[in-house]
Amino acid sequence: MICLAIESTAHTFGIGIVTDKKKVLANVKDSYTTKTGGIIPAKAAEHHVECFDSVIKKALEDAKLSFNDIDLIAFSQSPGIGHTLRIGAIVARTLAVLTGKPLIGVNHCIAHLEIGRMLTNAKDPVLLYVSGANTQIIAYDGGKYRIFGETLDGGLGNFLDTFARELGLGFPGGPKVAELASRGRNYVELPYVVKGMDTSFGGILTNLKQKLKSGKYSKEDLCYSLQETVFAMLVEASERAMAHCEKDELLLGGGVACNTRLQDMCKKMCSERDAKCYVLENQFNVDNGAQIGWLGLIMFKSGIRTEIKDAIIDPYERTDDVEVTWR
Ligand code: AMP
Ligand code: MG
Repeated sequence: MICLAIESTAHTFGIGIVTDKKKVLANVKDSYTTKTGGIIPAKAAEHHVECFDSVIKKALEDAKLSFNDIDLIAFSQSPGIGHTLRIGAIVARTLAVLTGKPLIGVNHCIAHLEIGRMLTNAKDPVLLYVSGANTQIIAYDGGKYRIFGETLDGGLGNFLDTFARELGLGFPGGPKVAELASRGRNYVELPYVVKGMDTSFGGILTNLKQKLKSGKYSKEDLCYSLQETVFAMLVEASERAMAHCEKDELLLGGGVACNTRLQDMCKKMCSERDAKCYVLENQFNVDNGAQIGWLGLIMFKSGIRTEIKDAIIDPYERTDDVEVTWR
């Protein structure tokens, strides 16, 4: 069975083509970026409208398939930016109506966890999900993917992007902060904010802005200290989630999981507690169609269907709103 899937929760319009034999036949994307400033929802949606046909065409070419070979159409139904989710949902419904293929809507956060399990053979990992808008520590328990810890304000990626903007850098800022951080040498004390299992970045951002304005610290040292601090917060909460759930696998997901310093800190924590740490290729960390396709397939096989009339977006659905019937 072959699934063509659409990802459009935020800046990325992605098409994945995946088989139920765990083969990713295509994973193509086009992402909205800016030179200065962050994501403007209407502009990101416009970006998706402009590129969707060429991304679909390229994915079918990569997979060496035509629409006749596709058995299922999946799309990211939740959570995300309403403007951009809507474009993906319209494309998905249109394809389903025109081709007569079944349709399935999926939760994007859960898709990160399931593609990770598929690619690594991790059995029951705790997911440290760090993307632009989301920062959650997720693990399976009692029929649902539960959130054991999360950000109390913005996502880690948005925090990095906002600080990058303060430095005059465009979107996405995470890689640019990482590059500056690699040249930082002196650790500058910053607030360390872990509340129970949750984290918060707003106060750290304010503190960083003040330090930047004071002119006393180099950009490199601030980026270095920022990474060391916020990554340590997340590693601490992830470790406690693993201990609490008695799980010995950690999986990283989301765009910020591309950061090699975060990867190294997670690997070290895991090796110290005899646990496994799974890091995916970057194309599966950032938002991508393949993750949507794989979750669509396993949900469909468990009997879940999405009628055309129900294929409406749900920007605020939470990870633990979803009943997991496929495990
Ligand atoms: P996602 O929403 O999962 O596609 O992730 C997007 C976020 O990942 C953006 O906030 C980026 O700044 C961030 N990001 C991408 N690459 C890196 C990196 N190497 N280090 C830190 N953050 C990154
Ligand atoms: Mg994501």
